[in-house]
Amino acid sequence: MNKIHNFSAGPAILPQEVFKKSAEAILNFNDSGLSILEISHRSKDFEAVMQKSVDLVKKLLNLPQGYSVIFVQGGASTQFAMVPLNLLSLQGTAAYTNTGVWATAAIKEAKMMGNVNVLASSEEKNFNFVPQNYEIPKDADYFHCTSNNTIYGTRMHSFPDSPVPMVCDMSSDMFSRTIDASKFGLIYAGAQKNMGPAGVTMVVVKDEILGKSGRNIPTMLNYQTHIKGGSMYNTPPVFAVYVMMLTLEWLDNFGGTDAIEVRNNAKAALLYNEIERNGLFSAVVPNPTDRSIMNPTFVLHDPSQETAFMALATQANISGIKGHRSVGGFRASMYNAMDLDSVQALVEIMQAFEKSHG
Ligand code: PMP
Repeated sequence: MNKIHNFSAGPAILPQEVFKKSAEAILNFNDSGLSILEISHRSKDFEAVMQKSVDLVKKLLNLPQGYSVIFVQGGASTQFAMVPLNLLSLQGTAAYTNTGVWATAAIKEAKMMGNVNVLASSEEKNFNFVPQNYEIPKDADYFHCTSNNTIYGTRMHSFPDSPVPMVCDMSSDMFSRTIDASKFGLIYAGAQKNMGPAGVTMVVVKDEILGKSGRNIPTMLNYQTHIKGGSMYNTPPVFAVYVMMLTLEWLDNFGGTDAIEVRNNAKAALLYNEIERNGLFSAVVPNPTDRSIMNPTFVLHDPSQETAFMALATQANISGIKGHRSVGGFRASMYNAMDLDSVQALVEIMQAFEKSHG
């Protein structure tokens, strides 16, 4: 089978060795003669998988004491409601930046729970930049931001020093770079980009910020339920957690976030340099420091050439580069598991296209 260069935005590329080990575990998990799909989540073998996943998250994030790591279901979208339910007090205010569709969805949920102060927004320019000059109010219950805006191809290059617990949706760039986890009160990420398959969501939370909202929180939506239950209050998505553990193990063996950040930066530089150099294309995000290293977005100056370029991509086994409908053009998602060769393949067809259509 020819190698397919998978630029899908998510669910997305995972390491080949993870697929192989996952396939083996479906047939015979840990030489038990049983499939990972048919064992109890309370079995010793699975408890070890859960523990290892927690340990790997702690290691990869260099997480200080005082934080809990839990795995829940419902995707990042459920976190949009869980965050205010757990952190927004009845009379309090939550501060948000609005940097795209996902941030807008998070704000909508928080507004159902109480007061929301949107400190800054990039909506007037179709979210093609990351707002910089805003002040986080000292009396907010928390500040919520989105580290990487998957649809538009923007990212927060750095994070502010927040006077209140900083909550971040890192769904699309979790573990793509080294961050200072101690700056955050809560980090959440759906697994289905850099961490594993869809079906499991990671939450890292500073214990001391919980239990203060004064609300009656439904049991399954209360972070403390899952912390106390070791992410096994109810049946966890056993297979998704297992594949996530394998993916985190792969990243650890790769050298962790320092090493993957070097490769991710090299991939992004390769593609953005070609977008800048090639006379037919331009980047969607004007400011280079706002550009995502996970989801570069770009357009053809002449949109009537899009179909021809897509056909060339398909011929070259390049998959998943069609842009999101709200931005158009192209989006090349280049998550951790993608190697430089795939980006090189994309750059080569852009160069070939320039020769044939320039
Ligand atoms: N936040 C971000 C940044 C995303 O990219 C996505 C999904 N692409 C979501 C939230 C929603 O995640 P889910 O589908 O897991 O609810």
